[in-house]
Amino acid sequence: MTKTVWITGGSRGIGAACVRAFAEAGWQVAFTYRSSEERAAALSAETGALALRADAADEDAMRAAYAALCAQLGAPEALVCNAGIAQQGLFQELTDADWRQMLEVNLMGAVRAVRMALPAMLHQKHGSIVTVSSVWGQHGASCESHYATSKAALIGLTKSLALELGPSGIRVNCVAPGVIDTEMNAMHSEQTLQELAAETPLCRIGTAEEVGDSVLYLCSARASFITGQVLGVTGGF
Ligand code: NAD
Repeated sequence: MTKTVWITGGSRGIGAACVRAFAEAGWQVAFTYRSSEERAAALSAETGALALRADAADEDAMRAAYAALCAQLGAPEALVCNAGIAQQGLFQELTDADWRQMLEVNLMGAVRAVRMALPAMLHQKHGSIVTVSSVWGQHGASCESHYATSKAALIGLTKSLALELGPSGIRVNCVAPGVIDTEMNAMHSEQTLQELAAETPLCRIGTAEEVGDSVLYLCSARASFITGQVLGVTGGF
């Protein structure tokens, strides 16, 4: 039977690479996205994936998207919590609103998606969840304290859920990308990107496809005895 995956934040970058990787591997793919309507439609036409508009920070929109997904493809057996935002700023300049927005999307967006997808996985006694954290969530990041905190929290969520859901046959893992060539890094100058590449043992920044392939692996049967892990896709950074 064809397997179904739900990918949040799938219209571009790492999320879009995940959509392509799963579709190429024969999965039925649904992805939610916040605003990039044209890109979502193009990706849907390219891959056959179901595109559903839903802000990860909007409980009602996410619930409606999940209901539409289940109605059209059936309940997903895999979930990729990828939607995320980044912002730079000195800790002293970050406002409560900045912190709330960061945690609302990066952490609570994942919590919401897991909450929705979980009942069907528990019923099936089978499922796989992958969160997308960051190397900054493992090591901290200067001038991105709220981003790094949200990504560290995702690792705590992953490890806790792996313990709680393992007996129910549900695996929960995390990928922690290093510096990846997506629009999220457009805020960095060419020089900064070159410096980050130079700090990376493999001497380059990574591609979204390299992260997508790792996410696909963790959701696949090949990773059937792997849970509670944080897989660094960092070039050794
Ligand atoms: P990106 O900015 O290109 O993509 C972010 C994705 O999240 C987009 O599809 C966007 O639409 C979606 N998104 C953002 N806010 C949303 C919201 N409120 N509701 C629904 N969707 C929302 O960047 P990316 O690099 O592809 O990032 C994907 C994930 O990878 C993020 O969680 C990011 O933190 C993580 N990550 C990226 C890097 C990197 O170097 N690019 C490194 C580590 C982790």
